[in-house]
Amino acid sequence: MVRKQIEARGITDPNVLAALRRVPRHLFVSEALRDQAYGDYPLPIGEQQTISQPFIVAEMTQALELGEEDRVLEIGTGSGYQAAVLAEIAYRVYTIERIRTLYLQARRLFDELHYHNIVTGYGDGTAGWADESPFDAIIVTAGAPAIPEVLVRQLAEGGRMAVPVGGQHSQDLIKIYKDEKGIHQKNLGGCRFVKLVGEHGWKES
Ligand code: SAM
Repeated sequence: MVRKQIEARGITDPNVLAALRRVPRHLFVSEALRDQAYGDYPLPIGEQQTISQPFIVAEMTQALELGEEDRVLEIGTGSGYQAAVLAEIAYRVYTIERIRTLYLQARRLFDELHYHNIVTGYGDGTAGWADESPFDAIIVTAGAPAIPEVLVRQLAEGGRMAVPVGGQHSQDLIKIYKDEKGIHQKNLGGCRFVKLVGEHGWKES
């Protein structure tokens, strides 16, 4: 998977490549889908949600430019796979999920796999995690209608954010860098994520 789907498409951060080699992706999908876990596509995880394609996980993780002392916030725990990849590199990962069954399932898996540096939260992640802010990096793994200003406020100076922004069915992956002058944005290209649903996201339909 890493050689053919990730390195071949230009991901070079050695920490990201090593993390993807370490995390057992097949444990983050249902038994029925295990033989497809390393395929070049997203997979359903129940509750009409998905585990992202491996390349998108790699691209977003690389965009965060993580170091081993960084504290990271993830919105959209889902299967927990992206959080596990982040936890292989960063000091601590805070991850929030709004669907209770997914939150509980991911929490159990983090325990089983001994990811003691992942802190889980249940609820609407569009409000961020103010008590633990500021974060060195923030990753939003659901499509937002606009750049989430609440989350930008919880980003440290020097912090990086990766967030899909656009319509309900397709978005652009935006990398944000925050410094003393404000925020700088770079469009990393098109992507397709399920909706970010919440007070500062899309309304539930
Ligand atoms: N990062 C996940 C993984 O590695 O499996 C994939 C995330 S999936 C594409 C998007 C997730 O975001 C879903 O589980 C969905 O329930 C969650 N989500 C959507 N809106 C949310 C919100 N406001 N707060 C927290 N989670 C949210």
